[in-house]
Amino acid sequence: MAKTEKNKRMDNDSGDFRLMRTQTAEPFFCFRCQTEKKSKLRAEWQTAQGMKTICNGCYGFLLSKRTGRAG
Ligand SMILES: [Zn+2]
Repeated sequence: MAKTEKNKRMDNDSGDFRLMRTQTAEPFFCFRCQTEKKSKLRAEWQTAQGMKTICNGCYGFLLSKRTGRAG
């Protein structure tokens, strides 16, 4: 049984991220929560390991963590 390992160790990565909005809801795979999402909103996260795509939820979490303000 392989348990789902979320990429939380990446939470403190100093890379930049930015929110992207597409015209239509398109499926994508969130790097951080390891889940396939379908949304018009996604974020591109530039990490030490390269560009990753994350969902709006993870983006919001990282942003609040970055600024030190919760939700
Ligand atoms: Zn996510």
